[in-house]
Amino acid sequence: MNENTNATEQRVPDGLADAGRRSFLGSAAGIGAAAVAPGVVLHTVANAAPRTTPVDDSHRWGMLVDTAKCAEGCSACVDACEVENGLDLQDMPEDADPIKWENQRATWIRKVKLQDNQSGRVTNLPLMCQHCEHPPCVDVCPTGASFKRADGIVMVDRHICIGCRYCMMACPYKARSFIHEVVERKLTRAPRGKGCVESCNLCAHRLDDGEISTACADACAAEGHQAIIFGDLKDPNGPLRKALGETSNRQIRQDLGLNTGVRYANL
Ligand code: SF4
Ligand code: SF4
Repeated sequence: MNENTNATEQRVPDGLADAGRRSFLGSAAGIGAAAVAPGVVLHTVANAAPRTTPVDDSHRWGMLVDTAKCAEGCSACVDACEVENGLDLQDMPEDADPIKWENQRATWIRKVKLQDNQSGRVTNLPLMCQHCEHPPCVDVCPTGASFKRADGIVMVDRHICIGCRYCMMACPYKARSFIHEVVERKLTRAPRGKGCVESCNLCAHRLDDGEISTACADACAAEGHQAIIFGDLKDPNGPLRKALGETSNRQIRQDLGLNTGVRYANL
């Protein structure tokens, strides 16, 4: 296959093989459900409250992407991520080369089309930071700007990122972007700045506000695809563990032993 398709069988995290089969929704405290179309349900925040305690390792956040449900030509997840994190607020400078601008523009999630060279089978999938348990980006960062939270989210501390881009070279998934231009407009929840590296943070601001959801997963569900399931890899009764237990799935580049938090089905 083209792109990073050297996927091998999934290494199931501790306890995942015993994934519970209980209710898909309403399993996380404070989370309700709202039907937006037949069979489509979005998480809503019933009793969500901002975090008052430090992040701990009682959760490990992750995702399952079912490539069979990911629609060709659909960019709902990409568009939602851009709006959620203010990437859409940055306009092309007047003197910029449009092609160079498009190629260098920060993207936290992108649609990738894979084709098996032998069978010709085409697979569409969204690719974002895989939130590795053993993240090479963190290993190579000279300042500690690339770091992993106790709940498994891999992030960049913009205050101490020096823009060396070692992490971008180390990431096997090309999941990170460098900001080349001055950022005039940004959102409080997603601080950005020229000379820094950034990538998907699993919508950490939502989690820290008590909302168990991501913009990309919500947008995918709203489009009726439900290709992305977000949840807690450590919750045996949660939707993510349920889906992982019911579906054969893989890590991309499992051979690297990174134990990614993002898994793929039908790949
Ligand atoms: Fe780091 Fe890339 Fe792994 Fe994300 S996918 S944790 S950026 S090495
Ligand atoms: Fe973007 Fe949030 Fe989805 Fe990551 S989890 S790709 S930051 S919308």
